[in-house]
Amino acid sequence: MAKAEWTLDPSDLLRVGPTFDLESFDRASTPGWDSGSKEADQFRLSRGELLSEMQERLFANARAGGEQRILLVLQGMDTAGKGGIVRHVAGMMDPQGLAIRSFGVPTEEERSHHYLWRIRNALPSAGRIGIFDRSHYEDVLVVRVDQLADVDWEERYAEINRFEEEVAASGTTIIKVALLVSYEEQGLRLMRRLQRPDKHWKFTSNDVDSRSKWDAYQHAYQEMLAHTSTENAPWYAIPADNKWYARLAVTELVSQALASLKLSWPEVAYDVETEKQRLATTMDPEAVAKAREGAEEKRADVAEDIEEYEEQVARVNELAATDSLATLAENGAKPAASPAKKSTGRG
Ligand code: AMP
Ligand code: MG
Repeated sequence: MAKAEWTLDPSDLLRVGPTFDLESFDRASTPGWDSGSKEADQFRLSRGELLSEMQERLFANARAGGEQRILLVLQGMDTAGKGGIVRHVAGMMDPQGLAIRSFGVPTEEERSHHYLWRIRNALPSAGRIGIFDRSHYEDVLVVRVDQLADVDWEERYAEINRFEEEVAASGTTIIKVALLVSYEEQGLRLMRRLQRPDKHWKFTSNDVDSRSKWDAYQHAYQEMLAHTSTENAPWYAIPADNKWYARLAVTELVSQALASLKLSWPEVAYDVETEKQRLATTMDPEAVAKAREGAEEKRADVAEDIEEYEEQVARVNELAATDSLATLAENGAKPAASPAKKSTGRG
């Protein structure tokens, strides 16, 4: 059997466009993935080599003065799976190249500053992949729902868009992910937490308070997604009732972002051949030959991974180009991320 892969490009399917409608978004759907969960896990893990290679290139380029970096923003209701994404996606990469930050209720110091102050301070430096577990978007979600500030929301969205435009201009590829879990599934996940002593630490009674404001939160999400999905900082709406799908999709978005940077290894300031010869004179010739062989094998493996990835992307694009909109809709996935059917999860 052929290896399972994406049948449509998730970055097209999940990207939030102007017609995005949260109410009809099916949170149990798996747009672009027709195979099962086991295949999905396998596929996700197979991205590991590619991810770590590209991440290292990003890091190396920054050493040589490159400005590029990536920022992955995670938002979602409690239990939507933000922590799992951090563990599973970031877990495939070198911790040295990551900058993971989570944002909770602002401290007194943070509250004495503009709400973007703590965000600015946490932005990834050149060469790094930043991951935000919650973000400045709390300032248009919980702050809006709980009326913690008296502001013009349209103005705040515009301010966020300007801020992100500036961040993008400094060399940051921004990927914003909304993990969308249904009301029923959230109930199950919270109840499971309460039934397992090893999960009690994850629960706070505030979780049930937020859940009881579900509709207000959905409204705030809809408004946020509609106003802040921009060319340089798009939102991706991820159906999150299937954790395996959410993890697979976010892995793919990050892989694509890294691949689209088309990074090569930076030029070095010394002459490689001269240094090789100098080093070889200090070594046993057999050891020199062995090192050369090992290096060639490793390069061939990586080149193969990258080639395979590019072929996959090409195949998926070809499929997408030939597939009619009707077929897309039939698959339960429409462009601009509004897979039909079901409700806000509050059935
Ligand atoms: P957790 O991610 O489960 O650790 O929870 C963090 C909590 O901090 C959530 O309830 C958020 O809504 C809350 N939070 C994050 N940012 C803000 C903010 N700017 N204002 C108020 N509450 C916030
Ligand atoms: Mg929580």
